[in-house]
Amino acid sequence: MIRERAYPVDPWHIRETRLDLDLLAQSESVFALANGHIGIRGNLDEGEPHGLPGTYLNSFYELRPLPYAEAGYGFPESGQTMVNVTNAKLMRLLVDDEPFDVRYGDLRSHERTLDLRAGTLERIVEWVSPSGQAIRVRTVRMVSFTQRSVVAFLYEVEPIDSTARLILQSELVANEQLPPTSKDPRVAAVLDHPLQAEEMLEQRTGGLLVHRTKASDLRMAAAMEHLVEAPGKHAVTTEGHPDWLRTTVACKLEPGQKLRVVKLAAYGWSSNRSLPAVRDQVGAALASARLDGWEGLIEAQREYLDEFWDHSDVRVEGDPEVQQAVRFGLFHTLQAGARAEKRPIGSKGLSGPGYDGHTFWDAETFVLPALTYTQPAAAADVLRWRHSTLDLAKERAQTLGLQGAAFPWRTIRGQECSAYWPAGTAGFHIGADIADAVRRYVSATADYDFEREVGLELLVETARLWRSLGHHDRHGRFHIDGVTGPDEYTAVVDDNVYTNLMAQQNFFAAAEAAKRHPDLARKLGVDDEESASWRDAAAAVHIPYDRELGVHQQSEGFTRLQEWDFENTPPEAYPLLLNYPYFDLYRKQVVKQADLVMAMYVRGDAFTPDEKARNFAYYDARTVRDSSLSACIQAVIAAEVGFVELAHDYLGEAALMDLHDLHQNARDGVHVASLAGSWIALVAGLGGMRDYNGQLSFAPRLPSRISNLEFSLLWRGLRLRVEVAPEEVTYSLRNGGGQARLDLIHHGKEVTVTQVKPVVLPIPPAPPTGPAPTQPAGRAPVRRASGL
Ligand code: BGC
Repeated sequence: MIRERAYPVDPWHIRETRLDLDLLAQSESVFALANGHIGIRGNLDEGEPHGLPGTYLNSFYELRPLPYAEAGYGFPESGQTMVNVTNAKLMRLLVDDEPFDVRYGDLRSHERTLDLRAGTLERIVEWVSPSGQAIRVRTVRMVSFTQRSVVAFLYEVEPIDSTARLILQSELVANEQLPPTSKDPRVAAVLDHPLQAEEMLEQRTGGLLVHRTKASDLRMAAAMEHLVEAPGKHAVTTEGHPDWLRTTVACKLEPGQKLRVVKLAAYGWSSNRSLPAVRDQVGAALASARLDGWEGLIEAQREYLDEFWDHSDVRVEGDPEVQQAVRFGLFHTLQAGARAEKRPIGSKGLSGPGYDGHTFWDAETFVLPALTYTQPAAAADVLRWRHSTLDLAKERAQTLGLQGAAFPWRTIRGQECSAYWPAGTAGFHIGADIADAVRRYVSATADYDFEREVGLELLVETARLWRSLGHHDRHGRFHIDGVTGPDEYTAVVDDNVYTNLMAQQNFFAAAEAAKRHPDLARKLGVDDEESASWRDAAAAVHIPYDRELGVHQQSEGFTRLQEWDFENTPPEAYPLLLNYPYFDLYRKQVVKQADLVMAMYVRGDAFTPDEKARNFAYYDARTVRDSSLSACIQAVIAAEVGFVELAHDYLGEAALMDLHDLHQNARDGVHVASLAGSWIALVAGLGGMRDYNGQLSFAPRLPSRISNLEFSLLWRGLRLRVEVAPEEVTYSLRNGGGQARLDLIHHGKEVTVTQVKPVVLPIPPAPPTGPAPTQPAGRAPVRRASGL
């Protein structure tokens, strides 16, 4: 785990003030830069030492066979693993004849800063070589948000005390050797030499490498070019090999003189385009980068981010650590999704190889809420990508003997890649999560063109899946049996409440959308009978409830399972999945992550306030949060049932997931769902924002330590700002003109906001609550009320 305060508190920067080689892999994830299309880990410029080298292109993967001890019908045969592609980060330096390597000589100072407004990672180092030559190095790198194929690096070096001979070797390297993998199922498979060389081109100041994958048959090209500024005599040469290309700059500098090299790099890939086409594509990207130059790229990056923060920033006063972490989370959310453009958002974004680079329900359920209300175009693109995989999902449903579309639990390209049924295909709820994301997007934007283009078909095909997966019993009740809900410590169960309520909403949403677009619905084969069958099933969905305990059952029979012995579970036995057999987890009341609690957020309209309070107390006491997808949702319901201090604690956990490496696996990449989830914890948790049936509502309430909370939302083209103070809330419209009106609900009361005058409303006193919820022994979140 990263010690608290590894990164000093600062509202807009993540600064590492000294290099800790034991934390190198974690910091590479924290300092990863990406734009949704390209991702580079925060590896040191000179490549070594490293935790995990990593450069990724969204959806560039290799296939590998999925091994089964005992295969079964319908098990996916091949997996997809994100490839560590050609590395353009490498810039090795020789000082006189000694390699600049932080493990040798004297590292006088080493500072790295991720600037959340500039969109850059800066590194400033003072180092004395083993033979006594002192140098100062400053590097800055960026992955451009405005030119999605471009990555740029600035390298500046100067001798401090005496004349030095400096040789900078800037490289492109394919098929880097990766450290061996562990047994943790959450890490990635290691591919051996996944890239086959196709072409190499060397020019004086740069060049290009083209490679393709063996099995997935994808082609990629990486190109680089250098702009060198050095006082006096210097030499620039480039030499190449099929798997590497090296531009060398040699010079001799006096103290006070500086070598400045700008490296521009471009990436392109395709499954269809010819070698010349991909080669030309990166050539063009490089030409475009050259046109702007380093300064132009930096300026455009800042402009892009200024606009992003203007729309998306969340201001939290009173807890500066959470403020920093939330901005860090929003930045990584943007990095994962900004320019994904009809490609998936992986659970680690493009920050590391964890989970093989797969996308899960994390994207639709955790990342898309933040994007839908702040960057709606990016949200729509993710759903367009899902739609582009619809044929594969239909094929999968057919293989499983089902109707409609069965979307994969985890994938890169659209095929199911989970080799473990109970926590894979059985997680059918992903279909309803996608449908919910469609519903949410259309509700927030009123973008009915999108609904016609892709939304309706997604809703219809997912509804069809539920209709064929579930059944009416002899009393007419509708059951969905043999599925796994969000809680992966309870698998292949009947009537998981979350799944059933989400399927119910999916049915209604499909029927409503079909009514809005009757012509298109007819083309999709939807007739009155089918819509009626969805409504019937929805109305009859069975929701298991334990009358004796007065709580919902997460799934049928859950509350009669044996209790887990939390008192005798040592802290080092978490996460339980690495230390106990699944069969034991499955037959006991131990919850990995918000499940029924998740249902109470996403389908809060299906529960009474009393039910929410009782359910939360029951399930919070049994939820161990072994998944990073838990804390943010527990924050939302804790706030709703009146425990805002606990909500604050959970918010802290969600937001600090990677900065404090709370799950001790940040090395494999950041937890994008939790980082985006900190937006959910603030806006839906402390802000109480909900959107049920197209009605926007808020119920803000602040914990003691937070003195002010401010966020903006885009709602049907209107920009709403919400400022929450301890006693009152101000709603204002930032655009729309004199005519614009936004109707919302504030703590149960209807309110209309116009651009003419902000509306200021008091926060009603909190209703009385029962005793504070408790968590499993040793699993309470860090308390934030007192400050750290
Ligand atoms: C969680 C899933 C999640 C996956 C990827 C698992 O540990 O249980 O809900 O989708 O991680 O983040």
